[in-house]
Amino acid sequence: MKLLVAVKRVVDYNVKVRVKSDGSAVETSGVKMSMNPFDEIAIEEAVRLKEKGIATDILAVSMGVTQCQETIRTALAMGADRGILVETDAALEPLAVAKMLKALVVREGIELVIMGKQAIDDDMNATGQMLAALLGWPQGTFASKVEIADGAAMVTREVDGGLETVSLKLPAVITADLRLNEPRYASLPNIMKARKKTIDTVTPADLGVDPAPRLTTLKVSEPPVRKAGIKVGDVAALVDKLRNEAKVI
Ligand code: AMP
Repeated sequence: MKLLVAVKRVVDYNVKVRVKSDGSAVETSGVKMSMNPFDEIAIEEAVRLKEKGIATDILAVSMGVTQCQETIRTALAMGADRGILVETDAALEPLAVAKMLKALVVREGIELVIMGKQAIDDDMNATGQMLAALLGWPQGTFASKVEIADGAAMVTREVDGGLETVSLKLPAVITADLRLNEPRYASLPNIMKARKKTIDTVTPADLGVDPAPRLTTLKVSEPPVRKAGIKVGDVAALVDKLRNEAKVI
C-alpha cells in the first residue's frame, strides 16, 4: 500500500512566537523551524505500518519555501522512502494545500494519506478534512489508534468526552492526534541514509493549482499578558482568595 504523509515546516514548538512589529504576521525570520509535531506523529505511524508489512512506500510531501526540504529530510531520516517538495513562496492556506495534495494523491496512486490533525502555526485544523472532501474519501480525524486490515482502517478518534471508533473503507485520509504514538528520533545512520533518498521538486502550477490566498489577514496580535501568580501562606488563605477574590467556590 502506498502512503502519503504531509509534513509542514512550522516555527519550532519550543520557540516563543513573536508577532512582527507591523502586526501583519508571526515573525519567522531567524527563528528555529521544525516539522509540525503532529506530522512527526503521522510519519511515525506510517513507518510503523511499513514495519508491519502493510505499507510498501511512504511519500513525504511538504509545501512551501525551499527550506521545507529540511523537513522532508527529517521525514526521510525517520523512515519515509522518498519526498516531494511543492516549492512556492506563496502563503499557503488549507484549501490550496488540500488541492495540491489531491493532485499528488492521484498522480502517485496513493491509497492512504496520514497527516497531522493541525499545524501548530496557524491552528487551522482543516487541511485533512478538505482533502478527504476533495477526494471523496472517508476521513478518520484526531486518530489515537489506527489498525489496518481487510481493506479498511479502524480509527479510534479522540472526541469530546471519550473515544469513538470508526471503520473507514480504504482509500482514506487519517489525521494524527497527540496520543497516536511517540515519534522516534532519527538515528545518525538513518540521517546519513536519508541523504541518499530522492526529493523531487514541483511547483503548484505543475499540479494545476493556483495557491493565491483567498483570505486576507487583517491583524495579528500577541495575547494579553497574564498577571503574575502569587503564593498564599496556607490553605485558609487559598480558600479565602478562591471564595472572595476569584469567586469560584
Ligand atoms: P492545518 O489544517 O493547516 O492545521 O494543517 C493540518 C495538516 O495538514 C498538517 O499537520 C500537515 O500534515 C498538513 N499541511 C498543512 N499545510 C501544509 C504544508 N504547507 N505542507 C505540508 N503539509 C501541510
